[in-house]
Amino acid sequence: MKPRVLNAWSTVTGDPADSSLTAVSMVSLESTAIPDSIDVEVPVKKACGDYLLRVKLAGVGLTMAEDDIIAADGLIRRFAVREGPSPETVYVDIHSEFETGARVSITEGMPHRIDIAVSRKPLLDLMAGRRIAVDPGHGGKDAGIRGPVNLLEKDCALAVALELAAILRSCGAVPLLTRDDDSYLEPGMRLAKMTAASPELAVEIHMAGEKDPLARSYHIRAIGGCENSRDLASSISEALRERMGLSFGPIEELQAERALSIPLVRVEPVCLTYFADEANFRAPLFRKRLAQGIMNGISRYIRSRESKGGTGSVT
Ligand SMILES: [Zn+2]
Repeated sequence: MKPRVLNAWSTVTGDPADSSLTAVSMVSLESTAIPDSIDVEVPVKKACGDYLLRVKLAGVGLTMAEDDIIAADGLIRRFAVREGPSPETVYVDIHSEFETGARVSITEGMPHRIDIAVSRKPLLDLMAGRRIAVDPGHGGKDAGIRGPVNLLEKDCALAVALELAAILRSCGAVPLLTRDDDSYLEPGMRLAKMTAASPELAVEIHMAGEKDPLARSYHIRAIGGCENSRDLASSISEALRERMGLSFGPIEELQAERALSIPLVRVEPVCLTYFADEANFRAPLFRKRLAQGIMNGISRYIRSRESKGGTGSVT
């Protein structure tokens, strides 16, 4: 049998609370042979937030189609597996949001498995201890929009918020939820609750809806009076476009109940009245991907603020 790479995928593993060294984004390959050599190159900066980490495998070819695989896990944007310039070489080109390193391990078997563990430490360092308010819209007697089958906006918003809180926690951040169950919040209470715990930014999660069941729309709103809301909104919109293929219109402005000193964004990433969106929403993976997209927008916003702040440590 010719030595061939068969398959590739990525996962996130490790418990950041245990030790940041164990938290990795794993790119895994299956191969019919162990490569003669595996070289991890020094990362090359391609653009702000885009570093190319190339892993060269010598002595193997490729059976799987050359592929560009989206990971968008907060660290790895995407990776490509392709034939190298010389025969029997394979390049794994990992595009990372941060400058980071990788180590490779091999598990022998048939097929053999090659695991490329990319350290998530730069992401964890950026997010550690950050207080992020997450406000799932509606709740209790206020159900919000209804889907054509049976989903309610209040439940969908809560599901995404809980996923987002879990991802934030896994990065060492401190999520501050206005509700974590089906509670009704009196008008005015929501904002008071959101700001009471002194977050550095806040995200409200809602669903979009249309009168026409065949129409679709997605919205992202920068809530007025808050410094940097617009920057945060565009960062989340861009990350959701990349992760979910969603296209938002221009960022809309919304008046705040009162002046706020933190950025506040309302995101409506699902059109709940559209049957296909309601159906997609039932899949746990879909909700996770939505939350990951929002998370990527938050971390990119924080990173851009840090680099503008002139610390020079984060680019
Ligand atoms: Zn709503």
